[in-house]
Amino acid sequence: AKKYVLTKYYNGEPKESDFEIVEEELGELKENEILVQALYYSIDPYMRAHMHLHKLPLDMIGRQLAEVIDSRHDAYPIGCYVVDSFGWRTHTITNPNIPYPKGDGLPLVRVPDVSPHPLSISLGILDAPGNTAHFGITEICEPKAGETIVITGAAGAVGSHAGQIAKILGCKVIGFAGSAKKCEYLVNELGFDHAFNYKTADIIEALKSVAPNGVDCYFDNVGGELSYKIMRQMKSNGRVAVCGSISTYNNVEPAKGSVLQPIIAYKQLTLKGFLVYRWADRFEDCMNTTLKWVNEGKLKYKEEVYYGFENMVKALNSILRGENIGKAIVKA
Ligand code: NDP
Repeated sequence: AKKYVLTKYYNGEPKESDFEIVEEELGELKENEILVQALYYSIDPYMRAHMHLHKLPLDMIGRQLAEVIDSRHDAYPIGCYVVDSFGWRTHTITNPNIPYPKGDGLPLVRVPDVSPHPLSISLGILDAPGNTAHFGITEICEPKAGETIVITGAAGAVGSHAGQIAKILGCKVIGFAGSAKKCEYLVNELGFDHAFNYKTADIIEALKSVAPNGVDCYFDNVGGELSYKIMRQMKSNGRVAVCGSISTYNNVEPAKGSVLQPIIAYKQLTLKGFLVYRWADRFEDCMNTTLKWVNEGKLKYKEEVYYGFENMVKALNSILRGENIGKAIVKA
């Protein structure tokens, strides 16, 4: 078995030399334990963020889709699939009856039959990113039919799903993403009403042109200056779901204070932050709803697949640079 250990704090973009790949011996299975082998690893922006909150050396955290290859648990026989927060490790021994000790509060999920879709959707649209979008929209933004909602990071795993849920709820959906190709995908394939390349568009003018009466809700995946400009175009008493702030994750110096505060007060906005583990006990229900909507053609997904356990750091940098459309995963 092998695992990644973070041995140096990132300075800007993560580097291969910030990690060591360590061999580890796994013991014999005890009663109710299973041995799993990773098939796919989830690559997520939070793997770049928050490292400064922990002491090093640190085992890399993260969700993975794994196959049970040995079992002493009747409900998890050899050959079944699970998703859990085993991190960047090839093999893991765990007891499904108790939370994985190095996890992040997210549950172990037994993967249902997802055919004809690839098994890997159980790591994206059916797991944390899909649930983040689903609950972030329905429980935090709570948009009503006819309202206008803006989504940033719109072509990523969370944003692309969040925009589609808002469309299902009858909203006008405006996306911001980092290339013309991503914007075409959002409008032509996912049914967003409008999409703009935030790297080239005049953000304020773009919003004035498609939402002249202002924006009701904002699902914020990026933070920073883009969020400031979007908030300027919000209606008074608008609602903001603060999901993430990827535009700041590679900053060498953490941002001090917030440029957003004056506009929050001026517009009397309500901002709510959230972490998806809040709904850990509803993951399985949400997964079933999402799978139903995918099968009915109401929700679409894309995956960006990278290959090889040795390429985890490259894959992480690829999403931080915006090279992915949809959910980024590494095939073991
Ligand atoms: P993505 O799959 O969307 O990958 C990241 C994307 O962010 C890139 O493709 C890139 O697209 C965009 N991006 C990168 N740098 C910048 C920048 N400087 N400014 C604007 N956009 C940028 O990741 P996820 O969908 O998984 O995550 C999206 C957000 O949601 C992140 O902030 C993440 O931390 C957060 N999150 C929060 C959770 C929670 O529980 N609250 C759970 C999961 C994720 P582009 O080409 O558009 O720049």
